[in-house]
Amino acid sequence: MITRTTRNFLTTLITGFFWLFFRKKYRNYSIFVLVVLVVGFLLPQPMSIPVQGATTADWDVNSFWAYPWGSSITHKGIDIFEEKGTPVTAATYGIVVYTHEGGKGGKSVMVLGPKWRFHYYAHLDRIDAFPLQPVKMGSQLGTVGDTGNAKGKPPHLHYAITTPFPYLGLRDTEAVQGWKKMFYLNPDRWLRP
Ligand SMILES: [Zn+2]
Repeated sequence: MITRTTRNFLTTLITGFFWLFFRKKYRNYSIFVLVVLVVGFLLPQPMSIPVQGATTADWDVNSFWAYPWGSSITHKGIDIFEEKGTPVTAATYGIVVYTHEGGKGGKSVMVLGPKWRFHYYAHLDRIDAFPLQPVKMGSQLGTVGDTGNAKGKPPHLHYAITTPFPYLGLRDTEAVQGWKKMFYLNPDRWLRP
């Protein structure tokens, strides 16, 4: 809801659902939309570290929600440091939603994975994915780089997970922008064995 991707997702879902629902002929399809939604939540989410050869030592466990963090205020993902050119691989299976070049993320890829979670891979040196491409866990999406606002910093992958459906229990009343934690999930939680 608070990123452009999750907002677009929800808008499409809600307008699509009601468009079908209010046309008698199509009403049954609106049920189908709900079934797909539920099935998406039930899909298992096996995950792997999205940089080839990287280990848990390659990111700082405290970097998620680090504050202050420039114009982002808080750091809503983790930075996995590895040499420029190292393959960036999909942390989960899913579908590439878009690839983008420019802005803070530089060259970036967005993948929709199980449980309607969006996986964001940024600062890539090269993009090896295309929109609507189905990917498996471990499929190469690009390579580690320093594009966008990582320019001049050690090359790393900025990896973030967002959800259009808030996890109310993750609201943090202590942290800066703590309510946004309902929409940004900490990848560390799944990448640590
Ligand atoms: Zn980062």
